[in-house]
Amino acid sequence: MATHIPIFPASVPVSAHISTPAPAATIIPSGDGTTPLRDTFQRPLRDLRISVTDRCNFRCTYCMPRETFGSDYAFLPHSALLRFEEITRLAKLFVAQGVQKIRITGGEPLLRKELEKLIEMLAVLQTPEGKSVELTLTTNGALLQKKARLLKEAGLTRLTVSLDALDDTVFRAMNDADYSVAEVLQGINTAHAVGFENIKINMVVKRGTNDQEILPFARHFKGSGHIARFIEYMDVGNSNQWQLEHVVPSRDVIARIHAEFPLTSLDANYTGEVAERWRYVDGSGEIGVISSVTQPFCGDCTRARLSTEGKLFTCLFASHGVDLGAPLRQGSDDAQLQNIITRCWQARDDRYSMLRSSGLQDGKKIEMSYIGG
Ligand code: SF4
Repeated sequence: MATHIPIFPASVPVSAHISTPAPAATIIPSGDGTTPLRDTFQRPLRDLRISVTDRCNFRCTYCMPRETFGSDYAFLPHSALLRFEEITRLAKLFVAQGVQKIRITGGEPLLRKELEKLIEMLAVLQTPEGKSVELTLTTNGALLQKKARLLKEAGLTRLTVSLDALDDTVFRAMNDADYSVAEVLQGINTAHAVGFENIKINMVVKRGTNDQEILPFARHFKGSGHIARFIEYMDVGNSNQWQLEHVVPSRDVIARIHAEFPLTSLDANYTGEVAERWRYVDGSGEIGVISSVTQPFCGDCTRARLSTEGKLFTCLFASHGVDLGAPLRQGSDDAQLQNIITRCWQARDDRYSMLRSSGLQDGKKIEMSYIGG
């Protein structure tokens, strides 16, 4: 079904693109008939994002601007980081409560030494129905060439690589890092060579900085088997000086690509999938758009986040979390830890992106570099 792709003249303010459907109580059936843990909007706990470090070798201006995260920034001491056994113990408890997909994030997760050992420990986790947990990881790709084979052999299932431009000058303008695009592309090629398929390549699009890269990016990955994805620039954390006019609405992104390579929309792979999928009419692959600003998807949000030292957050834009790390280290048993997870999720009513334009959401937010995107 070819979807009509509206062409919004640049004169239409970004705010006109914003649609905020009310969060419907989406009942998502669980595989085994048991009732998964649900929040106040009946959203089940399905996805867990685990941050394994708050450090990064990039300084992306939309996430970890150098002005804030400079050489004197106080990162977490190593002793505060959950050990791999502690992460695995908590992950087991989340899987028992309905989590089916675990994403390893950071900061930059490949900076965490011997990360493949943690992947090995998590790769054996099974859901109550006996299904393997889907294990994914998001990286900026700079260290991927070195790590790809180890991660694959350890049991990692899927990879997402953040790459905000193909032009080196634009790349550095976005990531303020001393790495080249070629290093990241080489990392992607190595990952593909060791068996990672359909790698998702994420570009955060910021008007006036890298939006001219949208078409070169689409051209580059078209027909590669990998999935180019375009993310609307978000007001994550408190440091990126976010402004609405720097957002390029996904509809504009789609319209720009469609003008050169006709697209048709695809159904979601599963309820709660973050990206909206589009397929090239000529059959040469698909792309995705992630529209947290203009088409918020809080209604189906099934994601919990575990910080590097064990705090549970129920939204990317949360301002506070619930501590699991301290009670774990103070000797709480699994039932007590499970109880904390249950009470936290059942009380959850997050829908920041839906309320963003209402101005109802204020207060200091956690940093995305601390909790992972
Ligand atoms: S804003 Fe929060 S509740 Fe909404 S989709 Fe993002 S993480 Fe989920």
